[in-house]
Amino acid sequence: MTDKDGRPYIKISLDYLDNPKIDALSDTAILLHLSLLLRAGQQKRDGIVSTRACKTRGDKPFKELVTQGLLHKIDNMTYQLHDYVKHQTEAQVIKNKHEVRQSAGARGGHVKNHINRLIYDEACQHCNNDFETKADWLQHPDLTAKTPKHEWQK
Ligand SMILES: [Zn+2]
Repeated sequence: MTDKDGRPYIKISLDYLDNPKIDALSDTAILLHLSLLLRAGQQKRDGIVSTRACKTRGDKPFKELVTQGLLHKIDNMTYQLHDYVKHQTEAQVIKNKHEVRQSAGARGGHVKNHINRLIYDEACQHCNNDFETKADWLQHPDLTAKTPKHEWQK
């Protein structure tokens, strides 16, 4: 998930430290849990983290998280953070938001650089869509076409 400033963030509830599972942990284990949440947020894999990442602060805090049911073993290489998807944003949702934003941006570039300048760009998905729907601007007599640059032209 990203805020208006574009930096991704994770959600931590205000009563995080009051949660009995968290309250039972040592400070190091709490720090490990937070760092794993941040890592999982960065990696966008729905709370799946590597066993190696789980042991970055040693075996003891790692075992605390497992004992409290905050980490579930998937296999020898991977663990999943407890209830990650329930609290955080699913990878698919992040991906969809990103795509919506990207395609809105691409659409704006298409209007500005292609429709307004009457340049048909083969590499532009919106130009291709307009071509298929026989958009008016493509009938304009001043229309020029831009073909994708090949390696040898760069
Ligand atoms: Zn275009």
